[in-house]
Amino acid sequence: MRMLEPVEQFSTHEVGPRRDLDPERVARLAERVRAMLIELGLDLDDPNLKTTHERVARMYLEMFRGMDQGTKPRVTTFPNDENYQAMVMEKDIPFYSMCSHHLVPFYGHAHIAYVPGDKILGLSKFARILEFYAKRPQLQERLTEQVVSFLDDELRVRGAMVVIEARHLCVEMRGVEKSGVMTVTSALRGIFHERPIREEFLDLLKGR
Ligand code: ZN
Repeated sequence: MRMLEPVEQFSTHEVGPRRDLDPERVARLAERVRAMLIELGLDLDDPNLKTTHERVARMYLEMFRGMDQGTKPRVTTFPNDENYQAMVMEKDIPFYSMCSHHLVPFYGHAHIAYVPGDKILGLSKFARILEFYAKRPQLQERLTEQVVSFLDDELRVRGAMVVIEARHLCVEMRGVEKSGVMTVTSALRGIFHERPIREEFLDLLKGR
């Protein structure tokens, strides 16, 4: 059987399953997960639980891989030779993250827009920036701010705006009546403080 390789350039998950995990780190973490499972009263002789601690350890290291990728996302930029001055927007970028408070997933979509200064960003890089900050224990509010700050500080854009819509399983799993609730956060910089461009952004969002 031939395994399909992920098509990286179309994936928001820029890094596929990690093959570079430090085996000693995996082993240390797995041992601690095992202790937790025992404390929970689980029978680790059950064939379905026998190697769960190792899988969980690897899975956590994968889900938090943004923490191992340096202090900032690595993105290439291009000079804005055409002097493009309008808004560039990418919407409905999917992401998965983990709530810092409960280590339970929150997930949804981000909508990211900016007005370039003297640099422009490759279109696939929006997803990469989002991914970098999402793959770690995170808060939706902080994720939103970090993405907009990166665009503002690193690209010195004329303005940027980020809206994130997400479902939080730590909220939903603990009360049936809260199922499906969407949390929306937004952050903006620069020219997006002006109403016309902010309205243009929100109009483009409505049209999806
Ligand atoms: Zn939570």
